[in-house]
Amino acid sequence: MNVGAILKVKGHNVVTISRDATLQSAVTMLANKKIGAVVVIGEDGGVVGILSERDIIGAIAARGVAALSETLTQTMTAEVVTCDEQEQIDSVMETMTSGRFRHVPVLNSGQLVGIVSIGDVVKTHIAEVEHEAEALKAYLSS
Ligand code: AMP
Repeated sequence: MNVGAILKVKGHNVVTISRDATLQSAVTMLANKKIGAVVVIGEDGGVVGILSERDIIGAIAARGVAALSETLTQTMTAEVVTCDEQEQIDSVMETMTSGRFRHVPVLNSGQLVGIVSIGDVVKTHIAEVEHEAEALKAYLSS
């Protein structure tokens, strides 16, 4: 299965925030939406970074609550690893494991079309493995 199959089920909605926003507004957004990361976009709507709860903890540990008044550029990760809808789920799992992150934005010709989290990927992977096991059982008992 590929990333497009996950997006077909979960939808293409991505929560984004401007890079000029404050860390405080990102914290409020993550809390209200009950999500762990937000994609940061520039003036032209392109992806310029990603901010996860881990970054926020790091910023507060380093600079205290004063970090909450800073703009996101000081805290976000600017080198964003992305994937496309054709990428296989196993490959995205490998990317997340080796990069030690849990979110990957999905781009189609440079346009943001979705985001997959480790939860989405693991859930789909388990469903795939269970489906294969059922098919094998049916084959063996036939
Ligand atoms: P996470 O596990 O997603 O909460 O993120 C852990 C760290 O990796 C944080 O510093 C994030 O900013 C960063 N990060 C998360 N997703 C990505 C990504 N797709 N590409 C690059 N860095 C990321």
